[in-house]
Amino acid sequence: MPGLPVSYHPATRLHQPGAGHPERPERIAAVLDALRAPELAGRIAAAQSPPATPEQLLTVHTRSHVDRLVALDARGGGSLDADTYLAPRSWESVLASAGVALDAVARGLEAGSAFGATRPPGHHALSDRAMGFCFVNNVVLAARRAQELGKRQVLIVDWDVHHGNGTQALVERDPSIRYVSMHQYPWYPGTGAADERGVGNVFNVPREAGLPRATYVRDLLAAVAQACEGWTPDLWLISAGFDSLDGDPLGGFTLEPEDMALWTTRFRERAGPAPVVALLEGGYRIDLLAAGVRAMVSALA
Ligand SMILES: [Zn+2]
Repeated sequence: MPGLPVSYHPATRLHQPGAGHPERPERIAAVLDALRAPELAGRIAAAQSPPATPEQLLTVHTRSHVDRLVALDARGGGSLDADTYLAPRSWESVLASAGVALDAVARGLEAGSAFGATRPPGHHALSDRAMGFCFVNNVVLAARRAQELGKRQVLIVDWDVHHGNGTQALVERDPSIRYVSMHQYPWYPGTGAADERGVGNVFNVPREAGLPRATYVRDLLAAVAQACEGWTPDLWLISAGFDSLDGDPLGGFTLEPEDMALWTTRFRERAGPAPVVALLEGGYRIDLLAAGVRAMVSALA
């Protein structure tokens, strides 16, 4: 058995968003460390991905967005919004992260499941704008790559504590992609109300902080079941954010790592022959992030 494909790139550590910023390089170091846990020994097949090229970003982003990032990088970096800063080597991280997403989905289509250790995250990035720690939208890049490779219908399930406004905006007029997001609401970035339905392909589950964890577990499963009523995904993508775990400094959900393992197992069962590929989004308490990734990857492997 070759094990679960895990895609990574060392350059995902290079992005330095600024002193005290929660989206720090230690996050990805902890994730890669977590994958060396004894219970995962022999069950994963880690491989370094080729970085994406700027051209590859154009399946999702405008030329002006990509050109703006290239130009900002050439000038040595700068701010894109209040909490999204492109530092001198950040662009290498952005391209590495997108490359990890593209590689993970390609490997997942072959193997049936995969995990991509993406950093910086992507689900807030819009077609023409970076925001919320995100520069390019990794999960939508992965969805488009899968469609180029022949998968028609893609389900994206996003359990990050923040609404993936970028993902929603990029897919909400395309019925070939369905987007399910459970997130704290009202909360950053302000979008994700239940009545935002796209063309009937968006399934938002806005929830307040501090509910019993079983409520969150049940409600996401129910939304996924609703999204799959009469519609069979050819690929499942998980926007796996670990800031929905109890104790994360950027959210107030009460989930535990085993809840994410349970979701992963249920999705894996429900997907049948369709591949399930998880990509990293948020998660800002290092120990929780590591525990969450370990639990999810263990369930996926
Ligand atoms: Zn988040």
